[in-house]
Amino acid sequence: MYLADALSRAHIKSSANSQGEFELINMASFLAIGEERLRLKEETDKDRTLQKLLILINQGWPEGKHLLPYQLTPYYNFRDEMSVQEGLIFKGERVVVPKSLRLEMKSEVHSTHSGIEGCLKRVRESLFWPGMTGDTKHYISTCEMCQAFQLNQQKETLMNHEVHTHPWEKVGVDLFTLDGKDYLVCVDYYSNFCEVDRLENTSSETVIRKLKAHFARYGIPSTVVSDNGPQLSSDIFAKFVNDWSFNHLTSSPHYPRSNGKAKSAVKTEKTLFLKNKDQFMALLNHKSTANKTGTSPSQAFFNRRIRTLLPIAKSLLKPQVLDPRQLQQRSYAVESGGGVYRRNILHLRRIPLPAETNAPTQTGTTEPDHPAPVDAPSTDKSTAQRPESHIEDVSHWSTT
Ligand SMILES: [Zn+2]
Repeated sequence: MYLADALSRAHIKSSANSQGEFELINMASFLAIGEERLRLKEETDKDRTLQKLLILINQGWPEGKHLLPYQLTPYYNFRDEMSVQEGLIFKGERVVVPKSLRLEMKSEVHSTHSGIEGCLKRVRESLFWPGMTGDTKHYISTCEMCQAFQLNQQKETLMNHEVHTHPWEKVGVDLFTLDGKDYLVCVDYYSNFCEVDRLENTSSETVIRKLKAHFARYGIPSTVVSDNGPQLSSDIFAKFVNDWSFNHLTSSPHYPRSNGKAKSAVKTEKTLFLKNKDQFMALLNHKSTANKTGTSPSQAFFNRRIRTLLPIAKSLLKPQVLDPRQLQQRSYAVESGGGVYRRNILHLRRIPLPAETNAPTQTGTTEPDHPAPVDAPSTDKSTAQRPESHIEDVSHWSTT
């Protein structure tokens, strides 16, 4: 029994149900968290507005919004989406949060002190109350911790426009020290999924042992990118690279920023760790927060959401295969003539290399109107990718 079915059947009139054709769907039982459900139920019972709303949903809405008590008018436009299950109110798959729990929910969604956009994406995924967006924005904009850390968006290094086809294909690795403790960061280029390990020491052996544990869990990446730290440029590490058969790219004078992905992850993790006592909870919430692509690192990595402390419908935790194109930034930055511009990634298309221009076409010629598949392997030597037009100024553009 799937919640999607529940939703599509939710508004089918009882004449259909009277045939016994459709099962009664218990939406509340789909909530992933048992105790949370009990608290939501208790507080919904005590919330006078929600109790009036519950009666409306069960007994029918008036003809016009003006006929409603003013507290209920914000729900009028959503009346077709609203349902009641076991005393809980839902707007689609999202639980309507009673007033008494809203502060707690805002606090939970912002528990890692991530930015407004990420928090809004998280809260909109599973919760609802009227004015939730403004409420949440206000909560975050007045957060003392964030103000203290001046967590305003920092301009990051320009992203490169490599296209990655699957998780853990290319992994950035870096070490950092915080409060006298050493850590290892591994970040996946495809999903931004990140792992952080505490290091007992910073020897090659210790770093290798941590990396082996990740490789045992997620597979061996094709490429590991790092800087030239002593642990990563030692003979022992070179032997590990050889034994475990992956490419090791290090930053060089020619590519000083090639480890930008890991450097950026280090900056993020340091801030998270400084602002949160429970570093594991901070990591969990960070992995569950959607980025600009609208997808969280764990969704991109596992093709499923992972459970956090935020109430969420079970249906939202089911595996869901994502289109890799969904995960790509829609545009990327290029430098030209001293300026920085954005190009739309959809305008990347295959062009034949000189060597194959006279060769018979094997895969068909890409028509100018048809953008190349962005999930095409970037290492494919038979083709190159050429950006087309659509240039806009992005001097002020930054990523988070
Ligand atoms: Zn904050």
